[in-house]
Amino acid sequence: MHILERTRFDELVQALVGQGYEVVGPFRRGNAIEYGPVSGAGDLPIGWEDDQAPGSYSLRKAKHEQLFAYVVGPHSWKKYLFPPQTTLLQAERKNGHLQFHVPPKKAPKYALLGVRACELNAIRIQDQVFLDSQHPDPTYAERRNNAFIVAVNCGRAGGTCFCDSMGTGPSVSSGYDLALTEILTKDRHFFAVESGAKKGKKVLDALDLPEASEEEKEQAAAAPERARKQMGRTLDTNGLRELLAANAESPHWEEVAKRCLDCANCTMSCPTCFCSTVYDGSAVNGQSADRVRVWDSCFTTEFSYIHGGSVRKSTVSRYRQWMTHKLSTWHDQYGTSGCVGCGRCITWCPAGIDITEEARALRAKHAQPSK
Ligand code: SF4
Ligand code: SF4
Repeated sequence: MHILERTRFDELVQALVGQGYEVVGPFRRGNAIEYGPVSGAGDLPIGWEDDQAPGSYSLRKAKHEQLFAYVVGPHSWKKYLFPPQTTLLQAERKNGHLQFHVPPKKAPKYALLGVRACELNAIRIQDQVFLDSQHPDPTYAERRNNAFIVAVNCGRAGGTCFCDSMGTGPSVSSGYDLALTEILTKDRHFFAVESGAKKGKKVLDALDLPEASEEEKEQAAAAPERARKQMGRTLDTNGLRELLAANAESPHWEEVAKRCLDCANCTMSCPTCFCSTVYDGSAVNGQSADRVRVWDSCFTTEFSYIHGGSVRKSTVSRYRQWMTHKLSTWHDQYGTSGCVGCGRCITWCPAGIDITEEARALRAKHAQPSK
């Protein structure tokens, strides 16, 4: 473990830029923390904390100057690895003939600055979806291979976080190139830095940082522990996969559907949701056409449109599909839960629907099947 003083933080950003990375990280836009290009600590949300609850998010200026005191916002890193819109194919009419080509792509080389433990696990889950398949996704593969991940341990839990009960946080354990822990005491502001991979060691070597003392290591370990103790929300996953599989006809789905607006916010903000659709569009003069892949959601009726009709016509069927996939059938597909407990679907649901509460309600209504 090494130590980076706050006053040297920009050197880390510069070292990443020096190695050809486009650094993207957290910044404040209006009343939310988003992810976008940053050029140094001055762009980060210094001293801003977020208050989150079901259907509610607001920012508050705290009396400190921490860079990573916020938790997670409406965006996730998936927009950099699995872009919301990708042109797959283009067609042009030339000399009376149609010519098709795949648009030339140079995958950007992103350094993702400020990736939390839950988000690292979400990236690991999307790796399974896009890379560990018979047909790996080339767009994702190139962006993912190019990416440099600077993780940040959480020192504070958000109001809708439940990563601890999902085993995905709040401390980062693997999958990063560098991991930071921000430590602010009465008279000092610094970061404990660990490298997790060869790429990270190269940046660390370039910075030539001093080794951490035993006391600094203890201070670093205390930060995620504080977040863990603060976390007020849990999801009991014990037998949950079986509970959901056995209760597709539960009357509880009707109750949730009365509140759900089918807005798809939960799927758009979720860092593991990966559904997309493909459409063709042509120029008004008929000279060119594009085939484009865009994010889609299981909450739209069109998403399950198959040969003359939508399979999931009702909100009941759409909400049930979403929650059952996340917490039950994802295990069948990928051997893991599809939820990392980031809390975004709870915060950004305009109806304040809480996946942990819905799981609790289902459990209360139906006896858990014996294993
Ligand atoms: S289902 Fe909700 S809490 Fe779980 S990973 Fe997705 S957005 Fe986060
Ligand atoms: S659960 Fe909430 S966020 Fe998701 S579609 Fe329904 S209303 Fe929208």
